[in-house]
Amino acid sequence: MDNLEQIAQEVKNCQLCSLSQSRTKTVPGDGAEKADLMFIGEGPGKEEDKQGLPFVGSAGKFLEELLGTINLTKQDVFIGNIVKCRPPLNRDPFPKEIEACLPYLERQIKVIKPKLIITLGRHAMYQFLPDNLKISQVHGKPFRRHDQVYLPLYHPAAALYHGSLREIIIKDFKKIPLILKKI
Ligand code: URA
Ligand code: SF4
Repeated sequence: MDNLEQIAQEVKNCQLCSLSQSRTKTVPGDGAEKADLMFIGEGPGKEEDKQGLPFVGSAGKFLEELLGTINLTKQDVFIGNIVKCRPPLNRDPFPKEIEACLPYLERQIKVIKPKLIITLGRHAMYQFLPDNLKISQVHGKPFRRHDQVYLPLYHPAAALYHGSLREIIIKDFKKIPLILKKI
């Protein structure tokens, strides 16, 4: 039986794409093995690369604050990323890097079996939802695809630096408990 530790160990030794050469630490993801909620960001940033943990920089602090607004902590959920190694200078991951890394995320999803997958930002959204969607139109709206429910949200890093998005992401977060209840 697959489990999160096994996956994290494989990620640690992974050299399937060239991000393995520039990373400091791999960031396999962190949180509860039996989480109802799984958050998926784009990829580790500088602080994440240093610590080997997801969302521990300024966007992570804001994500923690947002979780607090619905009475959750990071330990209640699972937080991961599309790619497990930091792209140099925080560039967007290349399609072939995403392709190489995605099987790890798919295995994590199979182990955790979250009720709701919350994508953070456009890049994570495009991995799961049709690519003609605009995040400005679909943020905060749940989608069911292949028997899995997804909720696309703005990325907390974007919301942190753009005042109007901050209010929007706070509002969208407040919908999570009801969406979960209805699944
Ligand atoms: N942004 C992401 O998309 N992921 C992280 O882990 C941190 C910041
Ligand atoms: Fe392997 Fe993913 Fe890291 Fe690429 S980003 S080296 S596929 S763990």
